Amino acid sequence: MLDQLPELIDPVVFAERHSHLLGHLSVRRLSRLADFLFDKKGELKIDLQFYKEGKVPVIEGRIEGHLTLTCQSCLQALEWFVDKPVKIGMVQTIEQADRLTEEFEPMMVSDNKMSLPGIIEDEVLISLPDYPRHENKCLQYEPAEKLVEPKEIEQKPDNPFAVLATLKNTGDQ
Ligand SMILES: [Zn+2]
Repeated sequence: MLDQLPELIDPVVFAERHSHLLGHLSVRRLSRLADFLFDKKGELKIDLQFYKEGKVPVIEGRIEGHLTLTCQSCLQALEWFVDKPVKIGMVQTIEQADRLTEEFEPMMVSDNKMSLPGIIEDEVLISLPDYPRHENKCLQYEPAEKLVEPKEIEQKPDNPFAVLATLKNTGDQ
């Protein structure tokens, strides 16, 4: 869910107003990120300032928060801290992009309404490694028993019996 943050933004209007967006965005909203995630818990802290650099609307700020990625080696949860500085110049032509100073990352804008979660998601995706994995050791090298949580051990044998009980009751009726 968006928390105070608008879904769509007009970069020109936001830049002219020197808008400052502060808020939180649920990780659940970032659908393109789903392939990288072990679970969708958590939210990202968004702090974005809009202004103009010459004639180009720019966004400057930071995206921070914890993600739970899937380790590409062991497929287990991998806690990941996102701390992505944002410096985007929203350009409409290649010429504008060329004129932009190097510190800004050019983003082509064709419409005056842009998805804020979309922009945030792009920034987070850029910040992720190609092959996220545990730095030191992966869980796959530990004995399998340690990977199974006590809750799961209790639940699994319960389920077949529950099904049998249901069938038996149905048969009796
Ligand atoms: Zn791993």
